[in-house]
Amino acid sequence: MSRTTTEHPGAVTVIGLGPMGRAMVGALLDRGYGVTMWNRTASRADDLVARGAVLAPSPADAVAANEVVVLSLTDYAAVHAVLEPAAPTLNGRVLLNLTSGTPEEARAGARWAAEHGAVQLTGGVNSSPTGIGQPDSATLYSGPREAFDRHRPVLEALTGRVDHQGEDPGLAALSYQLGMVMFWTSMLSFWQAIVLARANGLTAADILPSAVETATSLPETFAFYAERIDAGVHDGDVDRLAMGLASTEHVLHTNAEAGVDTTLPAAVVDLFRRGVEAGHAEDSFSALVELLAKPGPPTDPGTDGRVREDGPSLR
Ligand code: NDP
Repeated sequence: MSRTTTEHPGAVTVIGLGPMGRAMVGALLDRGYGVTMWNRTASRADDLVARGAVLAPSPADAVAANEVVVLSLTDYAAVHAVLEPAAPTLNGRVLLNLTSGTPEEARAGARWAAEHGAVQLTGGVNSSPTGIGQPDSATLYSGPREAFDRHRPVLEALTGRVDHQGEDPGLAALSYQLGMVMFWTSMLSFWQAIVLARANGLTAADILPSAVETATSLPETFAFYAERIDAGVHDGDVDRLAMGLASTEHVLHTNAEAGVDTTLPAAVVDLFRRGVEAGHAEDSFSALVELLAKPGPPTDPGTDGRVREDGPSLR
């Protein structure tokens, strides 16, 4: 049977039973922790109840059950929707907030928790659900070091490797987003290659070796440009942005000829063209970091259609 009271040192609450939360409950049960859980859709808990976890009738009951409360929800809007009615039970709780969001959302969440007598440790999980509970999976945390140290065994039950980045609750969210900004665009580029291959009679498996070779070449390229970018060097001695624009146009036209969606390659061409128009034709394509450092044109979706006073400056 599971144990769900604060008297048992090895009992944890998990709120949110998506693929991640479910994997976390499983990992905690595997290590002998008692688990109390809550999920908006109660049926997702059925198999975990069969394994000994306890389904609480409300978020407030789940929070009241244990000092450590893991939050694994879709976003911070969900966190607030779930926890606000449970606010009176938060006093003394340690919220392991493994919900993805922006650094500012994480900081605001931590402030809100503090107002109710709780502390938040923000976590960015660098693992898929299958890696949860595995020794080589990792989570970056930030927030109170004392809470991180005191609850380290629980953290290590969730992912084998844990790292405390600092007291600022936004740091872990920032680290997570630094990974995600590359992950999502990299995977989208792989999907684009696959649709282009399929339009030409090839399968994903056919292009896998060359895709892996391309990806494997990137760390060296990152290192080369990182040093120059930090030194403010964008010399066109190795590559020129004008060449890059021509190359990205070839990519766009190849996709257009194949009759597949060109949104992604067209966006890449647009950025290269803006860089050339801003006077960087003879510079390296690393000069695009100067372009990307400022808000884009009013059509930039990140501006929500609002014209921003500070941009665009390079267009
Ligand atoms: P999901 O979005 O699949 O599910 C998370 C949970 O959020 C579900 O239990 C869902 O409840 C609940 N939820 C969403 N909105 C609300 C709401 N308004 N009120 C109450 N409950 C709500 O996420 P994952 O489990 O995949 O991931 C959890 C977090 O971990 C996310 O922030 C994600 O970005 C992050 N993450 C995910 C990874 C992955 O590979 N899946 C990898 C690394 C991090 P219900 O069941 O009722 O729909």
